[in-house]
Amino acid sequence: MAQELWQQSLQDAVTSVEQLGDHFDFDPRPLTVVEAKYPMRITPYYLGLIEKVGDPIWKQAVPDLHELADDGLVDPLGEEDFSPVPAIIHRYPDRVIFHVSGSCASYCRFCTRKRKVGCPEMALSFRELREGIEYIAATPQIHDVIFSGGDPLILPDSVLEDLLARVHAIPHVEIIRIGTRVPATLPERVTDRLCALLKKFQPLYLNTHFNHPRELTQQAAEACARLADAGIVLGNQTVLLRGVNDQPEIISELFRGLLKMRVRPYYLHQMDLTRGTGHFRTSVKTGLKIIHSLRGPMSGLASPHYIIDLPGGKGKIPLVPQYVKRRGDMLLIQTADGDVVEYPDLPS
Ligand SMILES: *Cc1c(COP(=O)(O)O)cnc(C)c1O
Ligand code: SF4
Repeated sequence: MAQELWQQSLQDAVTSVEQLGDHFDFDPRPLTVVEAKYPMRITPYYLGLIEKVGDPIWKQAVPDLHELADDGLVDPLGEEDFSPVPAIIHRYPDRVIFHVSGSCASYCRFCTRKRKVGCPEMALSFRELREGIEYIAATPQIHDVIFSGGDPLILPDSVLEDLLARVHAIPHVEIIRIGTRVPATLPERVTDRLCALLKKFQPLYLNTHFNHPRELTQQAAEACARLADAGIVLGNQTVLLRGVNDQPEIISELFRGLLKMRVRPYYLHQMDLTRGTGHFRTSVKTGLKIIHSLRGPMSGLASPHYIIDLPGGKGKIPLVPQYVKRRGDMLLIQTADGDVVEYPDLPS
């Protein structure tokens, strides 16, 4: 079959800092050691969003010497402990992550899985995928299967369709989710054919990953519109990134823009403690301040949970600004504007 346009885009992606030197005025040589440790790939589309060296798009995609700092744990989430077969992470009773792909359209420098994505060891064999499906089929308490990776939408249509069909046919699987950054980094992948394919596997939820308002282009909006028109419920997971989006004005512009694209902000993630990503970490106080700034001035639809994924596989916990100032029969609750209001509670 003829190669599709998006597959050509992937082949044309920039995969070395040296190539980047052709596009921008900077010295790529010191960065070759970073790129040797953690792979780089930037699609032509995403490269086109970079306006200048060091801007928010650049920081997300271009290797940085800070990645070599030994500043954290390798696998802070302890995912391996919850992996009954290589392709599955089963940490919560009713849902699993199904790693169907080992690579992404573009690699994010802040990725939790940066040790693995794009490396040969992460590529899944046919047998590992089959074992994953067998595990889901043999585990009746699983109702929610999250296709993840890497990026599931990097798979060719035929492979993706086969995997979705097999999982969808399992009677106890009630919903399927796809986690993908493709609408933000390779929107041309979201073809009419892909949408028609996905439409067959309802109820289907797709969480995408936009981090900055500059990523909300006409092409990205059109990709999301095609998905939404196919009846797919769209959410977004944003990672809070120092120097990229760690300001209330940037986040509110991002979330308002997402809602206009029919994408509901689902999670704002506190950075994991992954090695080589410390330069992106913000304080929890910064995150709480941003979340506080959204409540009230913005549509409630633009108030996602602010999530910290605790080390050691202890799970995702929402962090909430302290609105309750005093507990007891008479609560003291602070409003978004800073007033304090009494609220009589029932005795427990
Ligand atoms: C994040 C995650 C999920 C999904 O969590 P939700 O809060 O339901 O979105 C499922 N399994 C694992 C291992 C996860 O890390
Ligand atoms: S798209 Fe997701 S999995 Fe891939 S590099 Fe970015 S954050 Fe990591």
